Amino acid sequence: MQKLVLASGNPGKLRELSRLLESLDYQLYPQAYFGVAAVPETGTTFVENAIIKARNASQHTGLPALADDSGIEVDALDGAPGVYSARFSGADATDDTNNALLVEKLRDFPAEQRTARYRAVIVYMRHAGDPAPIICEGSWEGLIQLEPRGDGGFGYDPFFYLPDHGCTSAELSVEEKNRLSHRGQALRQLRKALA
Ligand code: IMP
Repeated sequence: MQKLVLASGNPGKLRELSRLLESLDYQLYPQAYFGVAAVPETGTTFVENAIIKARNASQHTGLPALADDSGIEVDALDGAPGVYSARFSGADATDDTNNALLVEKLRDFPAEQRTARYRAVIVYMRHAGDPAPIICEGSWEGLIQLEPRGDGGFGYDPFFYLPDHGCTSAELSVEEKNRLSHRGQALRQLRKALA
């Protein structure tokens, strides 16, 4: 089994990515397992941030690294919070404070104007100096609802409504979410590239 370090401490992402890599000969370890601390995400695009994180994890472990950078773009907020999704409500943001701020900002918009999409970029770097990282992308359309529903997933999922399914992404099983999600799409591209 090839060891692969995941440049994230997010247990939700580890769960989803591990499931998607199960059938390949890769064993995914969170970077904290090797004592790697998170690096500041100073990029202004998902691609830049994913490369910054993967390079840092690879540099500190000597292993190939996988990084995901993702976020939610809300049309009524001109694409915010975008790359700042994790820190939307400030440096000490939690999922709850981020979701509360999102609802507050969208309260006066009718449902049909609360269109949004998740985006994910996954980067695979063979080593810290890899000049040609594999870059995979996915996006997933939905509407922001003002009341939470469901307790699966993480982040904005209880508020991310999927009109075609009549539920939020927090009401999907891990398998179903992976089949549909921005991260699932990107990871299936990665699986093809790695296979
Ligand atoms: P990152 O760790 O910098 O990629 O932060 C991405 C942030 O976007 C997360 O902290 C969540 O707030 C949000 N996000 C990304 N993907 C998802 C998802 O699948 N469900 C819910 N929130 C997500």
